[in-house]
Amino acid sequence: MTSKTLAELAAGLRNKEFSSVELTRDLLGRVQAAQPALNALISVTGDAAIAQAQAADREIAAGRAGPLTGMPLIHKDIFCTEGVRTSCGSRMLDGFVSPYDATVVAKLRSAGMVMLGKANMDEFAMGSSNETSYYGPVRNPWDTRRVPGGSSGGSAVAVAARLTPAATATDTGGSIRQPAALCGVTGIKPTYGRVSRYGMIAFASSLDQGGIITVSAEDAALVLTAMAGFDPRDSTSVDRPVPDYAAALERPIAGLKIGLLKEFFEKGLEPQNERCVRAALAVYERLGASLREVSLPHIALSVPAYYVVAPAECSSNLARYDGVRFGYRCKDPRDLADLYRRSRGEGFGAEVKRRIMTGTYVLSAGYYDAYYLKAQKVRQLIATDFERAFAEVDVIMGPTTPTAAFELGAKTADPVTMYLNDIYTIGANLAGLPALSIPCGFVERLPIGLQIIGPHFAEERLLNAAHAYQRETDWHRRVPPGYE
Ligand code: GLN
Repeated sequence: MTSKTLAELAAGLRNKEFSSVELTRDLLGRVQAAQPALNALISVTGDAAIAQAQAADREIAAGRAGPLTGMPLIHKDIFCTEGVRTSCGSRMLDGFVSPYDATVVAKLRSAGMVMLGKANMDEFAMGSSNETSYYGPVRNPWDTRRVPGGSSGGSAVAVAARLTPAATATDTGGSIRQPAALCGVTGIKPTYGRVSRYGMIAFASSLDQGGIITVSAEDAALVLTAMAGFDPRDSTSVDRPVPDYAAALERPIAGLKIGLLKEFFEKGLEPQNERCVRAALAVYERLGASLREVSLPHIALSVPAYYVVAPAECSSNLARYDGVRFGYRCKDPRDLADLYRRSRGEGFGAEVKRRIMTGTYVLSAGYYDAYYLKAQKVRQLIATDFERAFAEVDVIMGPTTPTAAFELGAKTADPVTMYLNDIYTIGANLAGLPALSIPCGFVERLPIGLQIIGPHFAEERLLNAAHAYQRETDWHRRVPPGYE
């Protein structure tokens, strides 16, 4: 069962080859077996999963099943789940049991999906290697000495090791696409506002976007159709109909105009990675797409602009963790100031503190204009660059990351080196654009991702292009040795 995609598993369920309870039990067994080596989950909700699977089997028997009924799923631990710990990878929320479900969680539950547990992640989604988690690092199943990427590392690993056919994830600067690339799976970050942020713990609100990690683009289309949509409880969610993303998948892509970002191929990209990406582009040419170079003159400023805007918003969002209302509280505070200081000092890890300090600094009087306002202007320039590029091409393609998965500890000493992992992914967040990553080959037995970026609300086009590639190749079907 485990080598199958979600779409194939769903077909097996419909054809009564197995029940949802059988599938769920099988995957819970895999989760337990993989946990010591990979540490992909923070919580496993086995009993609840079996109960949900039983309910799904009843729906199927009664002929009331939808396309996702009975399909197992893991949620990134940034999504609030009623009655289940929602830690966000932080000591600060280690004991926090959410009193409500995030909209994404509620929607996928009502679509009949079965939650197996909550995925490990970088603390408050700040990181690119899953090493900032309070619950310890997640390991890459392709080589357990290496990182899986972050911050949605647990989600990417869970899908790569076939512990689940789908895992939710979030992307503020690359946290869906980068771990998807480093783990050899498919991950889509939708347009900003396409998926509700209600109940998704905030990091940088103008950049955060929920999405999904799966084996194939077809699977991503199925889940995204159920996940997306307007939510009156999220004022930035967009009121616009959600297409059936799976309906457009088979459209031929002949005539698709693909832009190659000059800046992404210039420097920093490992030659072997470049070869994989170029080979993928040749597949598209064979399918009748055309390639042309496009340029985003301000893209080099995306990492510095992001590392002003994201910490600024994080410093404001994380102010709510004061030890008073919820979350970690220090022992025996002397007075109120001591309560704040020690609760935050003990509850947050080093990277989160670094971001809060940077963010507070760039927002402070006297520096606001020089840093925050400037970064917002640069952000606008980058968005305009993309708009110009999309007047010429339908999609932009290039690498998702400059290198394959690196070793644990290799970049922890130098935050700037760590931040540069997201050099190809951050632009789409700053401009609010949809983007996905699909597996496109291996460098020294480690997976490499191809990134596809589109104009606002072009998710259908991205999934269509990704699916066309996956019909021609089998990179997305490769399973790490030992997890077949
Ligand atoms: N790696 C980036 C950061 O550390 C992006 C994280 C994300 O997308 N959540 O901020």
